[in-house]
Amino acid sequence: MLVKMNTHLQGAEFLKAKTPGLAEPAGSKALGESAERSAKNNQAVVDQIRDWQEWREAAHRVKRHAVANLDKLLVEFERNISARGVTVLWAKDAEEANRLVIGIAKEHNVKSVVKSKTMVSEEMELNHALADEGIRAIETDLGEYLVQLAGQRPTHIVTPAMHLSAEDCGKLFAEKLGEPFTAEHRALTDIARRHLREEYLQAGMGISGVNFALADTGAIAVVENEGNAGLSTSAPPVHVALMGIEKVIPSIDYLPVFWNLLGRAATGQKLTTYTHLIHGPTPGRKLYVIILDNGRTNLIADPHTRNALGCIRCGACLNNCPVYRRVGGWAYGWVYPGPIGAIITPMLVGLDPAGKLPFASSLCGACAEVCPVKVDIAHELVHLRHRAVNEPSPARSIWERLMWKGWAFAMAGPVRYRLTMLGVRIGVRVAKFLPWHPLQLGAWTRGRELPKVPGPAFRQLWKEKR
Ligand code: SF4
Repeated sequence: MLVKMNTHLQGAEFLKAKTPGLAEPAGSKALGESAERSAKNNQAVVDQIRDWQEWREAAHRVKRHAVANLDKLLVEFERNISARGVTVLWAKDAEEANRLVIGIAKEHNVKSVVKSKTMVSEEMELNHALADEGIRAIETDLGEYLVQLAGQRPTHIVTPAMHLSAEDCGKLFAEKLGEPFTAEHRALTDIARRHLREEYLQAGMGISGVNFALADTGAIAVVENEGNAGLSTSAPPVHVALMGIEKVIPSIDYLPVFWNLLGRAATGQKLTTYTHLIHGPTPGRKLYVIILDNGRTNLIADPHTRNALGCIRCGACLNNCPVYRRVGGWAYGWVYPGPIGAIITPMLVGLDPAGKLPFASSLCGACAEVCPVKVDIAHELVHLRHRAVNEPSPARSIWERLMWKGWAFAMAGPVRYRLTMLGVRIGVRVAKFLPWHPLQLGAWTRGRELPKVPGPAFRQLWKEKR
């Protein structure tokens, strides 16, 4: 069954929105298995590369250098690409970026837009902003097209429709496009292709993301598998490329290492099917590049989270995350799910609205092990947890604050700790006989049983053994 959801962002509170099917054990199992399969396939390809660790280290260093020198590199990029007739615009936040895109659309009398995959546009909720101005926006990446037709949001940053079966897609095309039902993969692709071709021909503007912006040559690099980015950026008379400030790298010389890492880590391909290097507009066409901050400078300002700006959005950390495999993408409540989302979202939207995201991890470290650019995800999450607990926040309930204060008090000395543990042991025994529990304890025990009080305490065992 297709589940609809409000495609406006839900706020980022962990587990607020449920990925469809995950309430059912079978749905949860299917998503977990699918992510696990991707992880294994990708690892098999990676294992064939003797220099994989050297490539990772090189990419990590390039990104670290780029993030440390963004001020210079972005200006260099702007200067070089502007020299080829590209208009570069800067946006502080999503609102400003939407205003710029709408302004360009109006200037060129655009009525419909074709979009290739861009996460930045989802941060901006661009489709809604365009719809408010009477401009149709059509997603052309197959996965994005499917979730758009279903009125849903992506569940994965690389495979947005991971939660939809071929049957779901067939029903969707029958309901929304009036096509005869089929669950055959080739036939489904043909239907999407036929409908999208019309959209490319009618669109007045194409919008794309940017995988890498090259400072030295002043070019943008876009990678993809379906050919839709190539068509979106070349068929309409106007192309708008949206990029976060972190996409810039110093030189085209570094591009091969990223291309080699990205395809393998994302989909287990040696190279994505298409790699586009766009240096400027073709004659008679217009190209705009919008460079967006939207909270990224918050990540730079905190030295412990700066590293996360190196992320190249391969999705490997999602596929390898035991939490993501159980809860799916929607549970993270915003554009970026999985371990990297648990870092980026609190930094982009703020720690308060991001609620429990830094805690949405078992800290097993599988994400950091597979990350092709060596983002130290687990340590960054621990740092964010520290901030989430220590920074004063009106969003945290009085009970939560009292609980943490009480915990800090109890842990500050051995006598206090012993007395607290004694109190907990007695409290749990008494609570087991009560028919009703107050406040948070009541919410917790509605679906669970209180744990048994374990036997002798560790200290006592230690004393006896010695
Ligand atoms: S953090 Fe690393 S593994 Fe996760 S999406 Fe980004 S680049 Fe890929």
